[in-house]
Amino acid sequence: MSFVKCNMTRGEVLVESFSQAKPLGGRAIIDWYMTGHVSPRVHPLSEENPFIVAPGFLAGSSAPSAGRLSIGGKSPLTGGIKEANVGGTAAYKLGRLGIQAIAVEGKAADWQILSINSGGATLVPAGDIIGLDNYEACEKLRRRFGEKIGILVIGVAGERLYANSTVAATDLEGRPCRHAARGGVGAIMGAKRLKAIVIDDLGTSLRKAVDPEAFKAAEKNMIDAMKSIGPYGEVLQANGTAFFIDVDNARGSLQTHNYRLGSFDKVMNINAARLNELNRLRGGATGHSCSPGCVVRCSNIFNDADGNYLTASFEYETLTFLGANLGIDDVDAIARMDRRCDGIGIDTIETGAAIGILNDAGLYDFGDAPMAEQLIDEIALDTLMGRILGNGTEVTAKVFGIARVPTVKRQAIAAHSGRSMKGWGVTYATSPQGADHTAGPVGAGDFLNPHGQVAVSRNSQIINTAMDATGLCHFTFAYRFPQVLAPLINAFLGTRLTEEDIFEMGREMLRQERAFNLKAGIGPGEDGLPEWMGKEPLPPTNAVFDVPQEEIDDFFNF
Ligand code: SF4
Repeated sequence: MSFVKCNMTRGEVLVESFSQAKPLGGRAIIDWYMTGHVSPRVHPLSEENPFIVAPGFLAGSSAPSAGRLSIGGKSPLTGGIKEANVGGTAAYKLGRLGIQAIAVEGKAADWQILSINSGGATLVPAGDIIGLDNYEACEKLRRRFGEKIGILVIGVAGERLYANSTVAATDLEGRPCRHAARGGVGAIMGAKRLKAIVIDDLGTSLRKAVDPEAFKAAEKNMIDAMKSIGPYGEVLQANGTAFFIDVDNARGSLQTHNYRLGSFDKVMNINAARLNELNRLRGGATGHSCSPGCVVRCSNIFNDADGNYLTASFEYETLTFLGANLGIDDVDAIARMDRRCDGIGIDTIETGAAIGILNDAGLYDFGDAPMAEQLIDEIALDTLMGRILGNGTEVTAKVFGIARVPTVKRQAIAAHSGRSMKGWGVTYATSPQGADHTAGPVGAGDFLNPHGQVAVSRNSQIINTAMDATGLCHFTFAYRFPQVLAPLINAFLGTRLTEEDIFEMGREMLRQERAFNLKAGIGPGEDGLPEWMGKEPLPPTNAVFDVPQEEIDDFFNF
């Protein structure tokens, strides 16, 4: 495998051979590189903060749903280490090209594109795509570099170095609808004046396993294990992730009205049933893959009232934060906002949380969809309000003097309430990544019991962190049957890992992230949910976050 090192200041691209004693991929590459090569004290927008792109070590193989990509560096939003995870085609193409990582440092005099193909990697001037909506930019990039390229691109939010800016990744149809959304990774890329990475894998083939027969058997075992935990795959294919809207609403964990409620009285207008009804009338779709080789296919396509494509990957996080959290039940307005966020390159979670807190400042009324759309337009137009919102929930709170701030480590708390899902609350409180729901799902057990949640969250974070090194999508639910992972990895890479080695990989990664954050000034005092979440009951469960702080403080003792 190879490592692409790009110095933007010098305009230099080196492709080096890359091998390590232990398998490194995805999030593990970011952890290894940041702890071994980067001062935790660097400014996130400085030339020294690397922009890192790393597919998992199964990328480019036939392993099921192994097309996830890790993007990271030091976060402009949290100030700590960051890995934002995204689907799309880039990881698969990088894997086929034999590329395990890209690290970009320095700052170019003018905007550039990193073009990667089987002949190597080069920097070329970005030309006339600066300032464009991501959809328009991707059309131009395809005309210039070929119809079948995979694209990673920043929108105007990343160009302007907003702390809430994403890196968009194109899906199988070339749409920039998948986003490495959390932590402002778009601004790290923008600070390098790198507008896009285009990846052409023409002439390459599927990566072969070291032991093809054992790999085939391990892939079958994994598929069997996925089926054994219930019909999740079928449910996600039929409904997309919008399925979780009803689940959250029923258990009182749907972030609603600026985190004031755990259920939404108009949920039937934004749930999967409503989307499916509109899809039948308008010709949208579920069961769509975002990346090659996905067997779950949770993605969707949503059309407008005239039957024209409006947005894809219309996820439950977006329906939650631009819908329930803003009191909006007009699903077309939510879809338009989703499309706008994809075009600008901003995270729908952070955006919905930032607009939601404006209610406390008397600047937003719940249910006012035209106002919410206008506020997102202001981010695109770079007005003063847009610039404030574009820098996230915590900056917005500071500017408007709001004390009730729904963030941990400066990142908006994600979907699934941490008050009525206390294990998830522990994950938000402790993850070195900030309040991120994918960092350690806790979706089973007695959600409202404050005791025992630290152990459950710790276990989930350890195995999910390890999964982020493989490139496997969380919707394989492989964290629930980790026994299949070691045989799969061993057959592919020729390693001799045990199941315990996989867990130790996750522990090691979390330790590295914690160590980086401590040196960056993010200490144990930041492990916790906002104080008000311990006092303000969340209807309808009336739960508060009451996991004992001494148990949370014990989280990293492993
Ligand atoms: S399960 Fe969904 S998010 Fe995961 S790779 Fe497949 S389509 Fe993408």
